[in-house]
Amino acid sequence: KNNLNERVALPEYQDELYDLSTGINKLLQRIENAIERERQFTSDASHELRTPLATLRGNLEVLIRKPRTQQEYEEKIDYCLSEIDTMSDTIEQLLLLARLDSSQEQINEEQISLNILINDILKQHQNDITIKNLRVIFENKIRENIELPKYYATLILDNIISNAIKYSKNKQTIQIILYASKRQVMCKIQDEGIGIKSEDIPNIFNHFFRSDALNHKSITGNGLGLSIAQKSAESINAEIEVKSELGKGSIFIVYFNK
Ligand code: ADP
Repeated sequence: KNNLNERVALPEYQDELYDLSTGINKLLQRIENAIERERQFTSDASHELRTPLATLRGNLEVLIRKPRTQQEYEEKIDYCLSEIDTMSDTIEQLLLLARLDSSQEQINEEQISLNILINDILKQHQNDITIKNLRVIFENKIRENIELPKYYATLILDNIISNAIKYSKNKQTIQIILYASKRQVMCKIQDEGIGIKSEDIPNIFNHFFRSDALNHKSITGNGLGLSIAQKSAESINAEIEVKSELGKGSIFIVYFNK
């Protein structure tokens, strides 16, 4: 009979068998955790899209049921269009996260100078900077030219810089400093904005996480930007460090390998 249960390992193999079985258990635990994260992600994503869909539906139903003035029609339809734009943005970001997760993604290997990249990002956000009357100081303390993978570095820095702008109040200062050690290049982005509660800091890189700090809900966002930044950082072995104090401001430091 070839029944496994009846087999007894030779004493000299027992240690190896024990190691193997603990190894398998650890692996199983990791797979189970990954499945649980996936399940949570799907459920959060569905929820995130279901809420604006319900709002859209409600608005359209009201429009159909009651006769409205031209102005009311226009207002409601404008509102619906902006909800659709928000949902499209969320879907685009979810697709981007899925692409970052899959190793099959063909990433453009193009490099960009860090100095040029920061200037480009600031140029793209110039409108918001002007509207809020922010003072942006960009200081590059690195003598040599630093080249980084454009695709990932843009996703990391654009999300962090746009948050610094978004969560700053009018007339505040944002400081961006580049400095270097022997092996690493650091980009420090400091704002004087609303800051983050200490208990929220461990969660800010989670999908869909948004702090419920005061005045926060009036600032638009879907809680995916920093997840994208984090995933991109992992792809190029960069690290993101956060220091923040509620009401005082935040500091994000990105450590890139040279
Ligand atoms: P979003 O900005 O769309 O909400 P993010 O993933 O970019 O999503 O950020 C997650 C959360 O982290 C934000 O909702 C906010 O609570 C907090 N956060 C991120 N950056 C800052 C910052 N510079 N100042 C204050 N809070 C921030």
